[in-house]
Amino acid sequence: MRSADEGYRRQIAALFQRSPFYREKLRAAGFADAGAVGGLERIAGLPFTEKDELRRSQAGHPPLGAHAAIEISQAARIYSTSGTSGTPLYIPLTRNDVEQWREIGRCTYSRNGLKAGERVITTYGAGPFVAGASLAAFEAIGCAHIPVGVGNTERLLTAIEKLQPEALACTPSYALHIIETVLARGINVRSVRRIIVGGEPGGGEPGLRAKLESMWGAKIYEIMGIGDIAASLWGECGYQAGMHFSAGGLIHVELIDPDSGAPKAMEDGQTGELVYTHLAREAAPLLRFRSRDHVRIWASRCPCGSDALRVRCIGRTDDMLIVRGVNVFPSAVREVVARFQPRVTGAILIRPRGKGVKQEPPLPVFVEGEASLKEEIARAIRGALLFTPEVQMVAPQALPRSDYKVKLVDYSAATPA
Ligand SMILES: [Zn+2]
Repeated sequence: MRSADEGYRRQIAALFQRSPFYREKLRAAGFADAGAVGGLERIAGLPFTEKDELRRSQAGHPPLGAHAAIEISQAARIYSTSGTSGTPLYIPLTRNDVEQWREIGRCTYSRNGLKAGERVITTYGAGPFVAGASLAAFEAIGCAHIPVGVGNTERLLTAIEKLQPEALACTPSYALHIIETVLARGINVRSVRRIIVGGEPGGGEPGLRAKLESMWGAKIYEIMGIGDIAASLWGECGYQAGMHFSAGGLIHVELIDPDSGAPKAMEDGQTGELVYTHLAREAAPLLRFRSRDHVRIWASRCPCGSDALRVRCIGRTDDMLIVRGVNVFPSAVREVVARFQPRVTGAILIRPRGKGVKQEPPLPVFVEGEASLKEEIARAIRGALLFTPEVQMVAPQALPRSDYKVKLVDYSAATPA
């Protein structure tokens, strides 16, 4: 197998050769050719790639964009992201890229403990989205894969009852929604011993995890992917001590300070934003791509014996609010509220008064649970997260549930800034 440094040098050479976007970007940054860029030890000197640049590249050079390094006829599969502006961003893969993603997925789900002969039910939207690329990984492990897709809870419950799968893969908010329905209707889900959660933050929050594990009587394993880089890229092992990286040698990971962009040391307990560089991607390789995912890392050996880097997601910059200078991740608010279980259900909704990221205190936070907890929860949020909330208690099940990603911020009551 090639070393990461060899892969990187080859990838850079390929970008100069085949990607007009990167050729221009690197030359503008003062790198005339691949030789001038050098090896991985100098990667921090290169410019970042932002998602908006990819959108502009694709809008200006349709259909795949000037960053793509293939002709569209060489693509084996073309996924798309949902895109906030309504225009999808296309993500092409060659046949080799597809195989690579399957291998990364196989590594992730094997770490989750899936074994040949087990049955696993998935609720991924296999349609246009990259999560669908992970589905082949289950067969690669030797599992019997039962895809039921998004948005069909009845079909899912019937399949669990009749086919008795050992494992279920879904978002953490859907896992909560399903088990509330299951308990209300007395459905037998005892076969499920392993729940693989991803697609949104939450699986790593101790409160939500403890609640899901006790309600399901199963163990929670968190996974995380990023569409532009690879699906199912990180996965937890049985020690549940952060998600292991599954693409060593194929993708290079950096940790940076999100404000200054400066690299941070890969040491236990460090926090920052993940930045990715493809080392062996053919169709649309990305260089120093800013993920907007904020994580805490562990670089030391896991009790499972693996040295692969581990992360726990803290939140996404895209979801972040700033309340009088304090960064607030909605998932962190949910985590503080979850400490009050079982007197709260764990569901919350932040309803900002104004549009935009910057908010004036107090920030309205709706919490499902006992009305008498109002002041205590407000104090706990203020103490842990350093901003002043205006907590409003609502009845259990009053806030919206979701079979995909749950919304933690609702701007519908906000007035323009
Ligand atoms: Zn481990």
